[in-house]
Amino acid sequence: MRKIILADNAGFCFGVKRAVDIAISTKREQYKNKRIYTLGQLIHNNDVVKYLESKNIHAVDIKDIDKLNNNDIIIIRSHGISEDIIELLKSKNLNIVDATCPYVANIHKKVKEYSNRGYQIVIVGDKNHPEVIGINGWCDNKAIISKKGENLDNISGKVCLVAQTTEKQENWQKVLKIVSERAEEIIPFNTICNATEVRQKKADELSKEAQAIVVLGGHHSSNTTKLFEICKRNCENTIHVENSGEIPDELYKGKDNIIIGVAAGASTPDWIIKEAINKMSDEQKLEGMNEVIKMMDENEKKVYVGALVKGEIIQINEKAAFLNIGYKNDGILPLNEVTSDENVKLTDLFTVGEEIEAKVIKLKNEDNYVVLSKSELERDQGLKSIKDAFENKNSIKVLVKEAVNGGLVSNYKGIRVFIPASHVELYHVDDLNEYVGKELEVNIIEFTKRRNANRIVGSRREVLKAVKEEQENETWNSLEKDQVVEGQVKRLTNFGAFIDINGVDGLLHVSEISWGRVEKPSDVLKADEKVKVYILDIDKENKKLSLSIKKLMEDPWTNVEEKYPVGSVVLGKVVRFAAFGAFIELEPGVDALVHISEISHKRIAKPSEVLSIGEEIKAKILDVNKENKKIGLSIKEVEETVD
Ligand code: SF4
Repeated sequence: MRKIILADNAGFCFGVKRAVDIAISTKREQYKNKRIYTLGQLIHNNDVVKYLESKNIHAVDIKDIDKLNNNDIIIIRSHGISEDIIELLKSKNLNIVDATCPYVANIHKKVKEYSNRGYQIVIVGDKNHPEVIGINGWCDNKAIISKKGENLDNISGKVCLVAQTTEKQENWQKVLKIVSERAEEIIPFNTICNATEVRQKKADELSKEAQAIVVLGGHHSSNTTKLFEICKRNCENTIHVENSGEIPDELYKGKDNIIIGVAAGASTPDWIIKEAINKMSDEQKLEGMNEVIKMMDENEKKVYVGALVKGEIIQINEKAAFLNIGYKNDGILPLNEVTSDENVKLTDLFTVGEEIEAKVIKLKNEDNYVVLSKSELERDQGLKSIKDAFENKNSIKVLVKEAVNGGLVSNYKGIRVFIPASHVELYHVDDLNEYVGKELEVNIIEFTKRRNANRIVGSRREVLKAVKEEQENETWNSLEKDQVVEGQVKRLTNFGAFIDINGVDGLLHVSEISWGRVEKPSDVLKADEKVKVYILDIDKENKKLSLSIKKLMEDPWTNVEEKYPVGSVVLGKVVRFAAFGAFIELEPGVDALVHISEISHKRIAKPSEVLSIGEEIKAKILDVNKENKKIGLSIKEVEETVD
């Protein structure tokens, strides 16, 4: 089975990636619609150069610099340039964006410093390489350049030794040895970049194991050429190509049992590596892919319309944020995909460096950006929360937008939730307008996902009902027989009053309102009036509660003998007639009887002949029977006394 193995550390190094990022973000940040320039090709890779050209970033040669206009943008690539070229660009009033790799810039500093201190600068590297030319420019172009030990005959005195960042270690050692022997003093700075060294080491290892090696990178890229040389030493069947299109079929077709290694120079982007591997891999038998490729694949698969992506904001203005989403194209998040409020600026909401999550709504706009939306993500999250609320019977808070025929239209994270009028309160509401602008807690009672418009119905009544039930349960649990509690008169009927006690209704029977006679509850109680009541009985299971106010008052019969001694004369009111006499109320709850024979000296057939209901009369206490709650009176005897 054919195995394709990608060498570790293949592809873009830190400095190259940084330069490409700087070029793209400069373009986007300040000069969206303007052509910008790089001094020489930004990297030695034609595919990347073409990609940059598609973004209106063009390479310009130093000899054509006069063709540029005042304030044009010029980007210095990762190789760096000499000090006098920088001065030249400045004199042309160009805007310089320096993408020199920090490692290379460090060499410039050292070379300038030691040259000023009288050291002869020796550079190990290729005299025609732009990086070496640039370094030489920081010591007035007086450096001796030696690749493998040549040009060192006249070395003497103090020497500062540096290297081209992509040079081979063995060349460095060779030159170092010669210079050490000839110079009086030597300050060596091995400036070969670790990225290059590691890349070379890994390619070297892989080429010992593989039967064929494909080195990917620009034909003019020196670090790729070096990779090719290293691999070729170990593996005769090594080729150097710029992209997958240049890989000959004979290299892999029909060769099922070989290992093909892939190495890539510092200027080779991920997508070129991936294309090459895909070309040589038998799709069904893709084995041996290392973690990098898996990651690349996964990254690519993660970006599609509808996908959720995370990215770091690399640039932002009032109307759009640009994100690195780990994909070949960056993402753009326009303001209208964050908020519909045109007064908001994106710069008030986000900052550069912040990581945010968004939904892909277009894979590529006219500027090759992946278009992202936060509003769509919020809508999705909102829909998910609503669905969860519906399935788990949880409540959500919605904002009422308008009152319409039949109910309220509300909004939850950009999603319409309708609340029918009958579901707004536990009672009927006449004017729904008072709810507009308010936040309401609702339960979702209908959730139907449709292709064009979802139907989502909320009920506040359900929430209120649940709250009420909970409150009622709490109240039922807290109430006990013989307790005295406060309640509110809710409803009055002829047989009694319903008293609300923390959401629970109890019945105060008319006979329990007072010790005195109460015709109907409304004679003594008013709706909404607060009253203290005594719990006569409680049936928690059947939710029945009997209340009494009377019980809270002293029984007027308790000390009736002291209050109404036999023989004394009392004042009372005629309240009722019977055939055998008239009942006289001495006080509420204490009625006494005047037998018909004790009403008058005259013979009367019925009490109403001489008495009328409500009339006040004087009478004498004849007897008091506390036990049977009976008091006998005589009107006749009072009259005699008066006579
Ligand atoms: S190889 Fe090293 S020095 Fe050269 S650009 Fe890349 S990171 Fe910078």
